[in-house]
Amino acid sequence: MPELPDVEIYRRYLDAHALRRKIAQVAVNDVRILGDLPAEAFVVRLRGNRFEESRRHGKHLLVRLQRGGWLTLHFGMTGNLVYFRKGEDDPPYDRVRFDFAGSHLAYVNRRMLGRVGLADDADAFIREEGLGPDALDPAFDLEALTRAISGRRRDVKSVLIDQALIAGIGNIYADEILFQARLHPKTPATSLDAEQRAALFRQIKAVLETAIERGAGAEQFLERLPEHYLLPHRDKGGRCPRCGSAIATLKSGGRTSYFCPRCQPEP
Ligand SMILES: [Zn+2]
Repeated sequence: MPELPDVEIYRRYLDAHALRRKIAQVAVNDVRILGDLPAEAFVVRLRGNRFEESRRHGKHLLVRLQRGGWLTLHFGMTGNLVYFRKGEDDPPYDRVRFDFAGSHLAYVNRRMLGRVGLADDADAFIREEGLGPDALDPAFDLEALTRAISGRRRDVKSVLIDQALIAGIGNIYADEILFQARLHPKTPATSLDAEQRAALFRQIKAVLETAIERGAGAEQFLERLPEHYLLPHRDKGGRCPRCGSAIATLKSGGRTSYFCPRCQPEP
């Protein structure tokens, strides 16, 4: 599932292939991905337009259009962007395709849980979506994290993945952040002391930045991660890269958390 590092990679991919190129045509192959937005209005707005600049907030990718307004992309569980040359087959499940001279950019999404839309203003869109600060925004500092978790009696894992509190972290990276910070996923957020909050903050930034640097979502991504990362050991029978204990799992709210019971003792 695309989380902040994956969407940041998509943003760079879009910049590399599609920025400032004239959009000759737009094909909406499945109108459901647009929600209430009529396909015709979407096509009229994009055709002949250009992507001027991109920005990311949490798991959302926002692309400013030359003639005003923003294209908004959310990738749900299975979304992706695929660039391909004219004459090549469309990738499977491409829901929206932008056609340039000689090439295409497709928004691909097998399970349709994402959304493609339009917004007049990026900041207003972020507010309307109810998103908290982006986890990698420099303005999201230790104080901001402390504010986000203060008074939350919920466990630290559910706080980390709550997009209204901090935008960008999902199940997989929350587990990695907690493993690196040596915090059990069930630790109540209110019980974290100053040292634990500082460790959590450091690891939020370090894990997300490392995942982007190592090419989140790419082939061989897991092999490229630092040796002490939990991510490559999430499969059945995985062992903690730090102490060798069997990785444990914990189900809550329909999600499975992976953690090391020895390095992340129950609070
Ligand atoms: Zn361990």
